[in-house]
Amino acid sequence: MASNHQYSVLFEPVRIGPVTARNRFYQVPHCSGLGHLRPQAEAEMRRIKAEGGWAVVSNQETEIHPTSDLSPFAEHRLWDERDIPALRLMTDKVHGEGALAAIEIAHSGHHAPNLSSRAPVLAPSDRAIDNLYPKQARAMDKADIREFRRWHRAAAGRARAAGFDIIYVYAGHGLTLPQHFLLPETNDRTDEYGGSLENRVRLIRELLEETIDEVGHDCAVAFRFAVDEMRGADGMQAAEEGRAVVELLAELPDLWDVNVSDWANDSATTRFQPQDGYQTPYIEFVKQVTSKPVVAVGRLSSPDMMVSMVNRGIVDFIGAARPSIADPFLPRKIQEGRIDEIRECIGCNVCVASDNLGIPIRCTQNPTMGEEWRRGWHPERIAAKGDASETLVIGAGPAGLECALQLARRGYQVTLAEATETLGGRVLRESRLPGLAAWRRVADNRVYELQQLGNVQIYTDSRLTAQEVGELGIGNIFVATGASWRADGVGRTSRNPLKEHTPSVIMTPDAIMDGNLPIGGPVLIYDDDQAYLAGVLAEYLARKDYSVDFVTPAGIVSPWMENTLEQSLIQRRLIELGVRIHTSRELTAITGESAVIACVYSGQTVAVACRTIVPVTERLRRHGLFDQLVALKDTAGTAIKTVELIGDAAAPGLIADAVFAGHMAARNFETAPELAAASWFRREMPGLNESSSSSERKQST
Ligand code: ADP
Ligand code: SF4
Repeated sequence: MASNHQYSVLFEPVRIGPVTARNRFYQVPHCSGLGHLRPQAEAEMRRIKAEGGWAVVSNQETEIHPTSDLSPFAEHRLWDERDIPALRLMTDKVHGEGALAAIEIAHSGHHAPNLSSRAPVLAPSDRAIDNLYPKQARAMDKADIREFRRWHRAAAGRARAAGFDIIYVYAGHGLTLPQHFLLPETNDRTDEYGGSLENRVRLIRELLEETIDEVGHDCAVAFRFAVDEMRGADGMQAAEEGRAVVELLAELPDLWDVNVSDWANDSATTRFQPQDGYQTPYIEFVKQVTSKPVVAVGRLSSPDMMVSMVNRGIVDFIGAARPSIADPFLPRKIQEGRIDEIRECIGCNVCVASDNLGIPIRCTQNPTMGEEWRRGWHPERIAAKGDASETLVIGAGPAGLECALQLARRGYQVTLAEATETLGGRVLRESRLPGLAAWRRVADNRVYELQQLGNVQIYTDSRLTAQEVGELGIGNIFVATGASWRADGVGRTSRNPLKEHTPSVIMTPDAIMDGNLPIGGPVLIYDDDQAYLAGVLAEYLARKDYSVDFVTPAGIVSPWMENTLEQSLIQRRLIELGVRIHTSRELTAITGESAVIACVYSGQTVAVACRTIVPVTERLRRHGLFDQLVALKDTAGTAIKTVELIGDAAAPGLIADAVFAGHMAARNFETAPELAAASWFRREMPGLNESSSSSERKQST
């Protein structure tokens, strides 16, 4: 289409061994929480990316054998022939959109706990497994290694039979057996698979050669390799062994998919790695060493940066996991010159958290992610409006903005009223805290889109009362008035309000996010929310030179953030900033200028001096206006027909939940309620057939 424009280099076809990608946009493998448990949902999610213009669409790590069983997590599975049809769903759909399908076959070594299969755990050397389960991996003997190579080769053959065009050998993220053999820390063998780099690379070389031998005529063989562990001299470094590995194997694979290790470093959040393209310094040497195409990642959503990376000879392909999740239509938007419409990833790792929780993928920016099959949602298309014409959305936080945008796309007349002078609600307020600036993109993208539409009227500085809403005469109302942090300490640990507290000592998170500062320190932050906000507030105040105590009933700081791969980074940062951390402690009382905190196990108390307490515990829903409107709806002579409460005002949660709620309300508006209630969403039911025969069983051994 736009072959002469400034981004045309991104739309050149690139050959990868025996196959050709139609352009340079490459969705690298990423987990989805769908996998072998929800293959239809997985296939449709990947199809939509192919429709959105990606030239290569990969699946996710795909277990090749019961000794690589990642249960209870839903990755992909290719243990034997019976797994082929589920993967075929994806390749057929991806091919139908003109893209290549890639599969990341993998053996997870001591990272696979084999909890479902109860198989022995395999590793280069004896060691405890990588999960908190009292179990050890056994060092593979030569027969085990031969068996593993046979499984890998057989899985590659099955992957070709499933229709994949690109088949991976995977040594990255600290997650797979080939990488475990490569790293001295996980390999202390003294045979030909241990010791020198040549020996530690031996298994990878064998896997690459055998995969090429098995499928190389038809399929490209990609090597996914973490060039740097980002542990300095304690781990593999790009400048040293990382480069040496690329030199040793330079021309063997058809494609180099390079990144940094472990997963937390590869999928770094904007909070800890604000720079998009942050992996470039580590991977830029690779193309100097190999003539084979190279793909790399690093939250690449700026087309200018992409062009520069290609023109400077750093990559051949623009790799993306999260940018393709946030905007499956990213390539098409660039091709069609719709740059301003790109929904940029905010680097929050809510997508990563869903995988870590073993649930279907979700995304803060893209509420349709993971819902393509089960709810039939498309990121770029939405049904035309029903009979109603005018709608009113009250509150312009993430829920209100998304609801207004989708209603407008459906063709309704939309009035959006916001009490404050700015649009964005909690997104704007939270994005002012350290490290969260990129979160603004949730509001910026939606405000821009709303401004392009002719059927939207936006009013700021308009705190509406029920009477004013009634006077507007609009029939259908969505109330997205949000929630406020409570001040009384009530939360998941204690349902009793704090005793003896004087309001002057308490400062709510909202007050701080509104730009107020404590009149004096020390400041005690009490985190019973246990997600991100308390940790960010502690950082914010410590950076403003307040003396900060962080008290939490949890055993670690911000435990939920383990799901986003940030927990240890948060705790380290607070320690480095001099924040005093009190874990397993409940705030029980405030006396004068000190707080009483009690051990959650023994009840033993200590006093902590503080002048200000910031309780981060729970939020109170702002539903007063909604209640009044519901009452008004039932009075005679009113124009109000429907009133719906959405977002944090209905159920406080993540920003992702608020966006999702706004989207769902707009989608469901004027669809038959009995239809919505009957189906809720489509489910993939377990087949009740027993499919294992002795011959099938043989194939997995
Ligand atoms: P959510 O996450 O559900 O979108 P937020 O708290 O981010 O919730 O946003 C709610 C928005 O609603 C805030 O910007 C707030 O100023 C606005 N708001 C609250 N009450 C009213 C009202 N009566 N009229 C207009 N806007 C309101
Ligand atoms: Fe990006 Fe957050 Fe969406 Fe993941 S959930 S793709 S990090 S915006």
